[in-house]
Amino acid sequence: MNIDERKTLISKQFQQAFGALPELWVRAPGRVDLMGSHTDYNMGYVMTMTVNQDTWIAARHRPDRQVCLRSLNIDGQSCIDLDNISHDKDVPWSNYVRGVAKVLQEKGYALQGFDGLIHSTIPFGSGLSSSAALEMASAIVFQQVGGFRLDPVQMALHGQEAENKFVGVSTGILDQYSSAMGKEGCALKLDCRYLVSENVQISSELQVVICDTRAERNLVGSEYDDRRKQCERGVRFLQQFYPEISALRDVSLDQFSAHAGEMPELVARRCRFIIEENQRVLDLAEAFPRNDLATIEKLFSASYAGARDLFEIGAPSMEAMISAILNSPGIVSGRQAGAGFGGCMVSLVKADQVEAFSQQVHKLYQEKTGIAPRIFSTSASAGAGLLNFG
Ligand code: ADP
Ligand code: MG
Repeated sequence: MNIDERKTLISKQFQQAFGALPELWVRAPGRVDLMGSHTDYNMGYVMTMTVNQDTWIAARHRPDRQVCLRSLNIDGQSCIDLDNISHDKDVPWSNYVRGVAKVLQEKGYALQGFDGLIHSTIPFGSGLSSSAALEMASAIVFQQVGGFRLDPVQMALHGQEAENKFVGVSTGILDQYSSAMGKEGCALKLDCRYLVSENVQISSELQVVICDTRAERNLVGSEYDDRRKQCERGVRFLQQFYPEISALRDVSLDQFSAHAGEMPELVARRCRFIIEENQRVLDLAEAFPRNDLATIEKLFSASYAGARDLFEIGAPSMEAMISAILNSPGIVSGRQAGAGFGGCMVSLVKADQVEAFSQQVHKLYQEKTGIAPRIFSTSASAGAGLLNFG
């Protein structure tokens, strides 16, 4: 579906749902991490990139204090009463927007009512951050309709707070920051402690290809919380020797290695992964501009191996997918994306071989698992903002 077709579809559905045409259009992209699994809540670095799959909201101002929402991706209509923002158990997806409204109101912003129709091309729950895209898109609508302006980093922080406190999903800042601050045409080396990022250019000879395993993802939430706790235990242990540290980000590999043998074995493995993965982000930021394919390949495979063996966020579907990826033409390297436990993987492919690569990955993965994967090229799109059709 091209942009015109998408706009026509949404306009038509909007008119049917709300009885008039939309007067405001916003978008927010999903994102993929090219390096830096689970480093964000350890205050470290992530190589992140927006994708050109995104979430649109078409909206129209309402004279009352209601925000009425529908989505073309999922059933249900939900109206938020801005004078009494509560959870909606029956339409749980609306809680992402409710959370954003609640947090903005708590921060003192005056919100106004609107009708909103959501449409996304980001697959849900597979590591490309459809939830953050929904939060950032709705934060843009609230600003436009309410007539106030948020700094994009603040907007990301408010979105994270909404997801953590209102929706009740503990996440780092990576998803919202990427969606709010992403730049067209380049990746970002994000520093999750200081919330600053640098643009990183990737050679046009390389194409980012997402390989969605489409396998059932179980236990992501509880496993994610376990990993966070194990990292925190590691920090508390290492603080005995290095009282100045407050996160794994502060620990060098040498400092860690000096005491790794004294730590509980499981915690040591988790910490080693994060400390090494963090360094890989810095190394990748140097390798990308040089288009140093040998180094990029080494970093990606070490990241995947560490995720599987040390951090243990792998899954049989990911094993099947990485094997398909590595045995397909044009591959430079591949690794996990998002939190792991299935979902999407990300690969770097020689740009002139993407078609052959995609076909072969599809075939090999389906032969092995019986599941038809979703394979698609992507590129970095602009961060969240207004859609201009001019
Ligand atoms: P991810 O962010 O990795 O895609 P999450 O589980 O964090 O996965 O968020 C997915 C949830 O976000 C969906 O189950 C749904 O509740 C909500 N969501 C995201 N995009 C939309 C959309 N376009 N319409 C309605 N709900 C959405
Ligand atoms: Mg999410």
